Amino acid sequence: MKPLVAIVGRPNVGKSTFFNRMIGERVAIVEDMPGTTRDRLYGDADWNGREFTLIDTGGLELGTGIPVGQVGLTGQSGDIMDHVMSQAQLAIEEADVIVFMVDARSGITAADDEVADLLRRRATKPVILAANKADNAERRLDVVEFYSLGLGEPTDISSIQGTGTGDLLDRIVEALPPFSEEDEAEDDQTPRIAIVGRPNVGKSSLLNAILGVNRSIVSDIPGTTRDAIDTELEFGDQKIKLVDTAGIRRRGRVGVGVEKYSVLRSTRAIERCDVALMLIDASEGLTAQDTHIAGTIHEMGKGVIVVVNKWDLAQEQHKAEREGEFPKPDEEIDDAERYRKMLIRELKFIPYAPIIFASAKTGYHVKSILETALKISDMRYLRVPTARLNEVVQEAKRRQTPAYVTGMKPLRVYYATQIRVNPPTFVFFVNDPRSVHFSYERFMENRLREAFSFKGTGIRIYFRARS
Ligand code: GDP
Ligand code: GDP
Repeated sequence: MKPLVAIVGRPNVGKSTFFNRMIGERVAIVEDMPGTTRDRLYGDADWNGREFTLIDTGGLELGTGIPVGQVGLTGQSGDIMDHVMSQAQLAIEEADVIVFMVDARSGITAADDEVADLLRRRATKPVILAANKADNAERRLDVVEFYSLGLGEPTDISSIQGTGTGDLLDRIVEALPPFSEEDEAEDDQTPRIAIVGRPNVGKSSLLNAILGVNRSIVSDIPGTTRDAIDTELEFGDQKIKLVDTAGIRRRGRVGVGVEKYSVLRSTRAIERCDVALMLIDASEGLTAQDTHIAGTIHEMGKGVIVVVNKWDLAQEQHKAEREGEFPKPDEEIDDAERYRKMLIRELKFIPYAPIIFASAKTGYHVKSILETALKISDMRYLRVPTARLNEVVQEAKRRQTPAYVTGMKPLRVYYATQIRVNPPTFVFFVNDPRSVHFSYERFMENRLREAFSFKGTGIRIYFRARS
């Protein structure tokens, strides 16, 4: 999990110019997923080997959908100031380091004062003052003026020329939370489960339901960096670690940008987990953002359960719609089947994911969610004996001649071996990897899933030329 660095400041000071310079061509993984807007909002950066995620809060949209950065200097109306202030507020809550950017050309404005005031009073994380557009020696001298904002020494930079940005990055990296031992030592085999999903799907309710049925909470585990508090609990005789429960518990925040941060938070939780409980709201159906989250889980090769939450509510809705109709005894089953079919169609890139209809409110199926998650986690550590694996490969070969890419050499598959667990990862040695047709890859994946019952988890297959 990378620390989060947010750039705040009023419009036009150069936040996105700086951001783009730092991120370069490397767009954050989240933005390559289907179903997301393509504004370049956050991206990964590293400096001297230290990696972090940079957020350009200026790119966050107003409720109206107008990108704030495009409003211009005159645009310091109430709306825009509200926006800037709420972005600063969000950054205070979510970021590990805040870069407050001001404009060395214009000097201190009333808006700068206001943001500075908020940061001084509220920020508990380091704030670094960056005076941008210090394009020449004279401006660099003028920058001392910004001391009066009460946020310490201003670092002068020119995002356009690239001067001073190294110094700024030094300061950012210095201010980052230290690497935590725990982050490094996360190779213990306690299954790590993340509860992810859009705002309002019921994550914190599910968390409470899980904690409710498990009185024996072992501990909250602080000391992880970046206030990602995990909760460890015992379920039966199994230990489970629920990832980033602090992020889930932090309730009741609505407004500009919250959704974006929540996507980012989900991504980071997914990164750290073995199995993701992907919540969707049964009363609402599937949204593009749900699909996006599912895509992230799949890309990262994690275990996944699709939890159709608020099933109680969906049932009530259906009942209300059918008011007056002649009731059938198996209506719930019908509804569930219809919903399941829709999910299989819409989430066809994760056909291996179990779907569980549940209610965090009534507790319906909460236990089986955990049971299933544990099974999936076990599955991810399965080691297939090489001999057994190759029986399956040979059997598959007899069943179907490997499809290969037109114009390439016919594909010959020699043998396979499992090189890793969590997720299960296989290497197939072939005559020429370029010949491998995606349909063969899919065919083999399905064969492996059948033979070794890999359910609920991504598996990875690589093809290599036999040397
Ligand atoms: P944002 O609204 O804070 O994201 O600001 P932008 O990054 O959109 O920049 C606003 C304007 O300032 C643009 O016209 C940029 O080209 C310009 N700008 C950004 N950085 C610098 C700089 O270092 N020097 C100068 N002279 N102009 C800059
Ligand atoms: P989060 O933003 O994903 O953490 O969602 P919350 O747990 O805060 O839930 C959002 C709203 O949905 C709250 O009003 C919950 O009471 C409600 N809710 C959550 N789970 C269920 C459920 O299973 N059934 C019903 N009827 N409501 C639920």
